Amino acid sequence: MSVAPFELGNVSVAPGRRAIVEMPAAQLYTQTPLNIPVHVVHGREPGPVLLVCAAIHGDELNGVEIIRRLLRLTALKKLRGTLIAVPVVNVFGFIHKSRYLPDRRDLNRCFPGSETGSLGARMAWLFKTQILDRATHAIDLHTGAVYRSNLPQIRANLASPDTAAMANAFGVPVVLNSVLRDGTLREVAEAQNIPVITYEAGEALRFEEACIRVGVRGITNVMRHLNMLAERRLPHAPVTPAVAGSSTWVRAERDGVFRSLVTLGQRIKKDQLLGRISSPFTSDEIEVRAPCAGLLVGRDNLPLVNEGEALFHIARFEEVKEVAQQVEAFTADILEAPPSTEGDGPIAP
Ligand SMILES: [Zn+2]
Repeated sequence: MSVAPFELGNVSVAPGRRAIVEMPAAQLYTQTPLNIPVHVVHGREPGPVLLVCAAIHGDELNGVEIIRRLLRLTALKKLRGTLIAVPVVNVFGFIHKSRYLPDRRDLNRCFPGSETGSLGARMAWLFKTQILDRATHAIDLHTGAVYRSNLPQIRANLASPDTAAMANAFGVPVVLNSVLRDGTLREVAEAQNIPVITYEAGEALRFEEACIRVGVRGITNVMRHLNMLAERRLPHAPVTPAVAGSSTWVRAERDGVFRSLVTLGQRIKKDQLLGRISSPFTSDEIEVRAPCAGLLVGRDNLPLVNEGEALFHIARFEEVKEVAQQVEAFTADILEAPPSTEGDGPIAP
């Protein structure tokens, strides 16, 4: 079966070739055009069209590096189907090291957007109609917010079997079955029956090597699952993800200086001492204890906290001991793996 060229914007990508398509997003008030660069890798053989995108929150950088390494994998020479990779969706926020758009809107609450709405609505509409609508599957890359770290995890609506299969194939130990939030890329993709998963790992404005390696490995695992890449014997033990039944945020009960006593991926027991909040000026100090047992999947990294601030995110599992063991083994395996040289070469033509 012969494969037709892949048309995106005003660019036609022949089978077996790749291109960078500059999607005009807006014009700055200096009259400088602002584009969203979109990589297209078009395989010689037919297959799914996978969208991988990052920095829809402009300060979430791990995904930008994940896509840089992904695009350099030599395995893409034998790609079946098409990879659309967008390293930076929110180009405005990326320039300003900010999660938001210049009008302070969150682009990931603006979907599906509209042609005549706010700046955020117009960008969401452009991204949806020009890029998302072309995809058969999608992976959206995120990190925790600024000063907040997430344990590498997949969030997905597991009610959809194709989405659940992608979440499972990604191959991280922790999956959160997450209800769709209004206006997200994930919600609009699901509404169009495009199976979509979100990879959450690390902290905004940081590169974290383990989170990046897990992301590259996870995307290629999904591509093998979708038959876009050839099956091969994995150099690492397969991971059986565990799905969290629910999760809870532990919040600060007072303002003060916060010290955490636990680390991401750690098993937490009910009533366990998680941290302390003290006053820098008096001897006042309160303890922060776990309201439930579970696994620590998110944590505040900034010692300065206000009352009500989210400090710890605890996911509940039926077999929490086993999940914690799997996370520990998985993390050790990822960090021990020799650094891939594939991510350092030039992009193969
Ligand atoms: Zn995000």
